[in-house]
Amino acid sequence: MYKKIDNDVLKELKEILGDGNLLTPEDDLDTYAHDEVAELWHLPEAVARVHSTEQVSEILKLAQAKRFPVTPRGAGQGLSGGAVPVFGGLVLSLEKMERILEIDEENLMVSVEPGVITGNLHREVEAAGLFYPPDPASLDSCSIGGNIAENAGGPRAIKYGVTKDYVCGLQAVLPSGEVMELGGKVVKNVTGYNLIQLLTGSEGTLAVVTRILLRLLPKPEQRVDLLVPFNSFQAAGQSVSDIIKARIVPVALEFMERDSVLAVEKLTEKEVPFREAAAHLLITLDGNDKAQIDRDYERIGEICLENGAIDVLVADNPQMRERLWENRKLIIEALQNLSPQHIMDTQDIVVPRTQLPHLLPKIKEVGERYQLPIISFGHAGDGNVHVNIIKDVPEEVWKNQAPKAAEEIYRLAVSLGGMVTGEHGIGLTRKSFLSLGIDQAQIEMMRRIKEDFDPNGILNPGKIFS
Ligand SMILES: Cc1cc2nc3c(=O)[nH]c(=O)nc-3n(C[C@H](O)[C@H](O)[C@H](O)COP(=O)(O)OP(=O)(O)OC[C@H]3O[C@@H](n4cnc5c(N)ncnc54)[C@H](O)[C@@H]3O)c2cc1C
Repeated sequence: MYKKIDNDVLKELKEILGDGNLLTPEDDLDTYAHDEVAELWHLPEAVARVHSTEQVSEILKLAQAKRFPVTPRGAGQGLSGGAVPVFGGLVLSLEKMERILEIDEENLMVSVEPGVITGNLHREVEAAGLFYPPDPASLDSCSIGGNIAENAGGPRAIKYGVTKDYVCGLQAVLPSGEVMELGGKVVKNVTGYNLIQLLTGSEGTLAVVTRILLRLLPKPEQRVDLLVPFNSFQAAGQSVSDIIKARIVPVALEFMERDSVLAVEKLTEKEVPFREAAAHLLITLDGNDKAQIDRDYERIGEICLENGAIDVLVADNPQMRERLWENRKLIIEALQNLSPQHIMDTQDIVVPRTQLPHLLPKIKEVGERYQLPIISFGHAGDGNVHVNIIKDVPEEVWKNQAPKAAEEIYRLAVSLGGMVTGEHGIGLTRKSFLSLGIDQAQIEMMRRIKEDFDPNGILNPGKIFS
């Protein structure tokens, strides 16, 4: 169905890109053959490191004419195989489009190219007293373009929402090569269908995003973080529900089970606080009113202690806060480290928050039944739990048992009113579970949208749909 990239195409690509920006099989293309999903690997035929919208447009026109597939790529930190070029062809890397174009302090907006690393964006706007809330735990290594494509979330989603809540404008190149300018520096806009929201979370299958306009907030002045250890999952899960019921909305409300914390201890070789506790909640509050924050954290402390918390550790200085969050951010790496081959299957299920006390123990039961190490952590405040099946078992057990356990966990989430992915996307790894979460009419509508944007299927083929 697709044509190979031959020497003539390589020559045309080189003319579009200029010297040094086209990688061919003579170069090392391994980096562009995978994202952060272990065991998924497919070499592209070439890699284009673009510097401008015009180059993206020219390349997509060429791909249409010559019928080769194009896979957009940000920083390759995805956890669903979205940037893996399963049909070979060209990887279109946005990593060199990395300029912050404007911080507009009057309109409270920032305009960026897609390759900007999210953490750099945070630091730049914070230096101006402003705040871009979405904060995937990978923020120091993932790109804002990848965040748009995945509609990335992060610990702060419970109070501030996810990427889609901040996108006011996009420049996007359609698979035909046509450039669309969507939205603008307006905080309200109902002019026609909301194509910005359609592209946000479309996993690089509908268009290539080349410029992004994001809404900013004033940076909150005060912040407090709490670490609360519990002797049981249920007590931790119940505390999450009770905190929300008490009308307190923390910035972050993260859940970490003991094995995830111990994995971090093993990785860093530094003892973690309350290492024996069955589960930990890491909670952040922010705002400008110090007295209100103090009242809220005291109330949270009471709720947790009423539910049987072992203690409530208050981190009110930057060093201690940094240490607690560093441990949280290292969990994925630490869990991979538990597998001799660094392989694990990460699920990204999301359930109504009230179902957490039921979900968490049931996940453990699945692990015991299939005799697999299953370790969970995640954004408990929005019901989004990352369930990790660690490949620390014989190959036979892994091949036979892990897929069954994974399917059971997806079905469990759906049976509790949840969805199969909260923030990592369908990509390649969850294609066969798409129909678990949504009905056939929606899937057909999505397919028709894809066909309309990309009738020849050249943009990121093989993703989302089976
Ligand atoms: C340790 C770790 C922690 C993580 N924590 C979180 C978290 O807390 N929350 C969360 O949501 N995710 C998290 N992730 C997942 C990941 O970081 C996010 O999905 C992130 O948005 C990926 O960005 P990227 O630039 O690396 O994208 P890539 O992996 O390069 O690409 C992801 C998808 O976006 C598409 N894409 C990339 N750029 C563009 C573009 N300009 N135009 C169109 N399509 C494009 C690609 O084709 C692909 O389908 C984590 C990952 C790791 C490894």
